[in-house]
Amino acid sequence: MPELPEVEVVRAGLAPAVSGATVLAVTVLDERALTRHPGDGTHFEGALTGRVFRGAARRGKFLWLPLEPAGASLSATEAVVGHLGMSGQLLLRPPGAPAERHERVRLDLAHPVHGELAVVFADQRTFGSLALDELIPTPDAAPGGYGSDDAAVPTQVAHIARDPLDPAFDDAVFRSALSRKVSAIKRVLLDQTVVSGIGNIYADEALWGARLHPETPASSLSTRTVNRVLHEVRAVLEKALAEGGTSFDAQYVNVNGQAGYFAHSLHAYGRTGQPCDRCGRPIVRVSFMNRSSHYCPHCQRMPRPA
Ligand SMILES: [Zn+2]
Repeated sequence: MPELPEVEVVRAGLAPAVSGATVLAVTVLDERALTRHPGDGTHFEGALTGRVFRGAARRGKFLWLPLEPAGASLSATEAVVGHLGMSGQLLLRPPGAPAERHERVRLDLAHPVHGELAVVFADQRTFGSLALDELIPTPDAAPGGYGSDDAAVPTQVAHIARDPLDPAFDDAVFRSALSRKVSAIKRVLLDQTVVSGIGNIYADEALWGARLHPETPASSLSTRTVNRVLHEVRAVLEKALAEGGTSFDAQYVNVNGQAGYFAHSLHAYGRTGQPCDRCGRPIVRVSFMNRSSHYCPHCQRMPRPA
């Protein structure tokens, strides 16, 4: 499932192609891609045709393309919100390119510099979505997400916390939230209302880096340990971003259809039975929240109750 680095690679790839581009036509091939859109395919097509994209922004695993306001207002009030779900892909293609496998929606655009192009939303497992949504002001008056200067965020994204690479992410608020949670640190890292953008892969990797057992109660962690967790989270997200993301299940690709190569840098996730890169003992896998946790039982020990 795409997490922050994968979605950011997609956002960064889309930004130069869509900024300033006019929507010439919209083709909805499968309305399952519009489950979060407040209308049907015809409504989506009609609402977007003729509009101009202002850029591409992201918070956590959500990305959005703000639209230039239709009236005299200077600030964008609407955006197309995208979530890649399990297997969603946003691909840049030349105009008239043949349909992609699992293509759900196509936007034909005209860019003032790059000419015509197509943005194709393809999604094998159909958990991803596109939707037209309203932008609302951010409570802290900081930009709504990475890639936008507007202090606004789509209503569908407003419920999630800022992500750890966001300059407006508040470490003190995060520490305070953890001190009130008795649940496992891994569960808290996956809670998008506490910190967004982290999924199973980067939670396992950050906890391996911080030498913390995934079941460690969050409230038991010292300030220093929480800071170490945040440091490891940021380090692994930044490294994955620099390496183009993780294409573990071959579903995630960038806007040109290329896989990322961070899967080669994983220390814990998906390495069941392989030697820990720190101590040489085997990485184990246990079930966790209908998924799995991967960790080193030697380096990441469960603390004894005080
Ligand atoms: Zn180890």
